[in-house]
Amino acid sequence: MDLSISYECPDCKTIFREKLTELFPGRPRLCRHCGGMTRLTPDSLRGLAADLREFIGS
Ligand SMILES: [Zn+2]
Repeated sequence: MDLSISYECPDCKTIFREKLTELFPGRPRLCRHCGGMTRLTPDSLRGLAADLREFIGS
């Protein structure tokens, strides 16, 4: 299973997922739709937490 985390673009509301293995600290995540800066949201962190629980339990 690939752990991934969701990002949201505040401008166009696009949500997309990035694999944790492809994240680099400090590198900005740009929206693929409009090129704006994306952000983590509380929902994305909850989703990651759920994925982690599943990952550990499996
Ligand atoms: Zn966007």
